[in-house]
Amino acid sequence: MSDSQPNEAQPNPLRGRKACKECGVINGVRAYVCKDCGTEFKMKKPRKRSHKIPVEDFRTLEEGDLIRVVGGSGPYHTSKDGERTYFIDRGKYTVVKIEKDGIQARGNAGTCYLYMGKSCPSKLLDTITNSPCKLQKVYLPNHLRQKR
Ligand SMILES: [Zn+2]
Repeated sequence: MSDSQPNEAQPNPLRGRKACKECGVINGVRAYVCKDCGTEFKMKKPRKRSHKIPVEDFRTLEEGDLIRVVGGSGPYHTSKDGERTYFIDRGKYTVVKIEKDGIQARGNAGTCYLYMGKSCPSKLLDTITNSPCKLQKVYLPNHLRQKR
């Protein structure tokens, strides 16, 4: 990492191409790895992918928003030896309806209720704890967005 950097003011003779830092072989600008030695190139612009932002307040979500449930969150059952089994599968869900203490959301296994209230023992069974789901809002790159 102590190599001197090329002066940025100089005209770039490699416009449209790039030289491998390791071996100096000229590669096409879109190459991900050096064709000669296999060194990975750092891309200036990472390819756009969906990105996720933690949801602080689920009431800010709207119908049709894409969310992701983080694994190991939400209501769970505690077995006699203390092992937790979570009821909500992690993964992507589409918001169907925002309710007082949670969200109706459509996932791979159909519509389910994502509890978002305070953590407390279930009134139904004392081995079940109602615990809020951890959510991330999923932002898709423009070209993957579906307009309704
Ligand atoms: Zn190389």
